[in-house]
Amino acid sequence: MPIYDYVCSDCGEAFELLIRRSDDTEACPECGSEEVEKQFSPTTVHGDTSHGKAMRAAKKRDAAQARDRFHERRRYEESHDRHGH
Ligand SMILES: [Zn+2]
Repeated sequence: MPIYDYVCSDCGEAFELLIRRSDDTEACPECGSEEVEKQFSPTTVHGDTSHGKAMRAAKKRDAAQARDRFHERRRYEESHDRHGH
């Protein structure tokens, strides 16, 4: 189950909510306001160290994927050239 970070627009309280269903009420536990903003990163990883590690792992993975795409494109262009001439 995803836990989301919220920030209350009324009192500025930052809090986390466990969303079980999409129609769960998203309300500030501090002032009860439903004027809350969902933050876009689900809080599944706690602590700066592991978060940083996860970010680095994700960046590494993205870089690897970009490299793969580049090589695939090169292979395609090379084979295309060979067949073209
Ligand atoms: Zn509030």
